[in-house]
Amino acid sequence: MKAVKRNILLNPGPSTTTDTVKYAQVVPDICPREAEFAGLMKNLREDLVKIVHGDPAVYTAVLFCGSGTMNIDVCLNSLLPAGRTVLVVNNGAYSTRAVEICRAYGLPHIDLRFPVDEQPDLALVEQTLREHPEIALVHTTHNETGTGLLNPIREIGALAHRYGAVFTVDTTSTYAMRPIDVNRDNIDFCMASAQKGLMSFTGLSFVIGRRELIEQSADYPMRSYYCNLFLQYDNFEKTGEMHFTPPVQTIYATLQALKEYWAEGEEGKWARHTRVFEAICKGLDELGFRQVIRPEWRAGLVASVRYPNDPNWSFQAVHDGCYRRGFTIYPGKITGADTFRLCALGAIDAPDIEAFFRALREVLGELGVKVPVQY
Ligand SMILES: *Cc1c(COP(=O)(O)O)cnc(C)c1O
Repeated sequence: MKAVKRNILLNPGPSTTTDTVKYAQVVPDICPREAEFAGLMKNLREDLVKIVHGDPAVYTAVLFCGSGTMNIDVCLNSLLPAGRTVLVVNNGAYSTRAVEICRAYGLPHIDLRFPVDEQPDLALVEQTLREHPEIALVHTTHNETGTGLLNPIREIGALAHRYGAVFTVDTTSTYAMRPIDVNRDNIDFCMASAQKGLMSFTGLSFVIGRRELIEQSADYPMRSYYCNLFLQYDNFEKTGEMHFTPPVQTIYATLQALKEYWAEGEEGKWARHTRVFEAICKGLDELGFRQVIRPEWRAGLVASVRYPNDPNWSFQAVHDGCYRRGFTIYPGKITGADTFRLCALGAIDAPDIEAFFRALREVLGELGVKVPVQY
């Protein structure tokens, strides 16, 4: 097996993959309607539920062919009964995406907004639930990837349940990294895609949730044909297959990625991501960079960094210099603040981050940006 050039991706997914995962895509051609392929998907779905400690009698994983946003779309459009309302606990770009999806489908919704650099006020969440008994679904984002802020999902889920609502969480940027337990965390539905925490490739996304609620949703208005949760679930139950063509090669790669996940282990993997994140924070501190999110609210996977105040600073030029050296950094996603992001996803470890900061120092030197950086 020939080694593939290794790039260190510090963007919020797709993430750096191992060569074994890359090469797992190279398989004999197969029609995905063969029983052999359905068997692979069965194991895959069971593993996806196991990662979040779901009881397989209660929870199931439904696969889709698409990027991660598809999961948000699927959950919101499929799980809302007629005449009821969605509550989005919104403190960032990804919860705003959920609001945009509600708008696109014309779903009645409440956009309960909080500052992007703060955890939501739970008293206000509760008050909203109390005043609006029409709320049937509460949605939020676990790690707001736009800022790296961790949301208190266990507490929000408990409130949702106290007021009889279903709780859906966008765990795309925590799944298979920061440990999740659907029971302990009060999650009815969570979601992710293969190219983030699992360190596989784009094209496979999945919703993990309660079978009973999916079965109930058979009677809800069908607002999408391709992105309907019950239809896809029902097809899996009856045939073991995706309704339409699955992302064949990504599924092979993801099966390999799962082997590597279990070999590293939940704890070991989270410890590695934590090492990477700590190395990122240390490197930023040494250069004088300031992060947006206060330490105790960070999800430990995304550092959101303010641009320094230096006439020679140019994000694009810094990006290009790092890119030429094999490191990809990413722009921020906060309106009204100039930021960039460094993420701890992927098959990388602390020495990769140390190498990145050596490269970054070189680039800053070439551009004449003063170090430590000034604000
Ligand atoms: C990456 C991500 C998504 C999905 O984005 P796609 O570009 O559609 O893959 C959704 N939610 C969160 C929180 C994410 O980090």
